[in-house]
Amino acid sequence: MESNPMCMALSAVKVLRLEVGNLFSTLSAGVKEEHGEEGREFISEIQSMLSAINHRYRELEQTVNNIKIPPGSLMLSNSSYFAQENSTDKQNLYSPLVRSHKWSDKVHKYSAFAHSILNANSLKKSIIFTSNNNKRKRPQTASHNISPQTMEAFIASMDRMFKDMNIQICRAFTTSTVVQVTLGRILQATVALKGFVIEWVVVRGYTESCNSPADLMSESRYHVFRRISDHAQAATLHFADFAMPIAMPNVHELATKSFLTWLHSYSSLFTNVCKQCGKHSYDCYPPTWRDFKNCDPYHFECKP
Ligand SMILES: [Zn+2]
Repeated sequence: MESNPMCMALSAVKVLRLEVGNLFSTLSAGVKEEHGEEGREFISEIQSMLSAINHRYRELEQTVNNIKIPPGSLMLSNSSYFAQENSTDKQNLYSPLVRSHKWSDKVHKYSAFAHSILNANSLKKSIIFTSNNNKRKRPQTASHNISPQTMEAFIASMDRMFKDMNIQICRAFTTSTVVQVTLGRILQATVALKGFVIEWVVVRGYTESCNSPADLMSESRYHVFRRISDHAQAATLHFADFAMPIAMPNVHELATKSFLTWLHSYSSLFTNVCKQCGKHSYDCYPPTWRDFKNCDPYHFECKP
């Protein structure tokens, strides 16, 4: 290692910096009692330090002379064109360029970590097969391949579950169905189903008219319903993950029923008080959260 002239020169720089650092720290400490009354010892100490620095500086010069100039120009790809730049502003671009290279390297590294972590904790509800993910793929169950007649019967049975909750199919493809859930005069939810598995939910106010009943994209213009939309997405993940390890269609049917029962608990959105703080309103919001197990109302901030 030491035989490399570049390494030797760098070591010489380090030693020189150390000696100069020592000199400045001695100077800043100033004359002390042990340096005698007139401080002669202090002056001699400084002189010896200066001569040591001179010695180290000569050593550095010698080692620098031993470094050979690399043949030809260094390959810096397109960044070598900066050398041809006349404007002083643009000549300073090299260090930001190096920083951005380092940053993009980090982004690559972290995204690879994130990818592996997210793959291990997948919350995807659609079954997507990829060639490099065969070990983790979820078993395709019959829950995704439901005949339209079975689906219609299922929705009709859901519609009969609660008197104040109306459920209508508004768009049906081969295995995908979009249903419109109207809960009393409180809210309406547009739910996309793939077989019995809920893929997407949007909750809007009862009075809000959207472009089309099957509109899955437009958010509610009210904060309360936007918040409930988020909770409903969380609820679908909760119920789907509960059912996912069991590859039986009726389990997914049960998960969807549980979700609709949970959604029905919003019929008391503006009348129930929060079970935690006992108040109707917190930060101008009614209790928008419903417990997944017993559907108890809570403010999002108060939820257990
Ligand atoms: Zn509360």
